[in-house]
Amino acid sequence: MTLTFNSDMEYYKALKLREEWGNKPCDHPKLEKVYFTGAFLLNYACAQCGAEFTVAQKLELDLERKRK
Ligand SMILES: [Zn+2]
Repeated sequence: MTLTFNSDMEYYKALKLREEWGNKPCDHPKLEKVYFTGAFLLNYACAQCGAEFTVAQKLELDLERKRK
């Protein structure tokens, strides 16, 4: 598996990551913006496991990390 994402991640890549990662635990070290080609979708996905996050969920995660 290669992790060579630069900025945005296409939606199908997130799907593929999720399939490859399975149910392993992940602390989501890096969230990438996800987009559909030709559509604006403001969502995030973990570059490691492909889990999806809404903008609100990402903000929560950021705040949680600042507290630590
Ligand atoms: Zn993750």
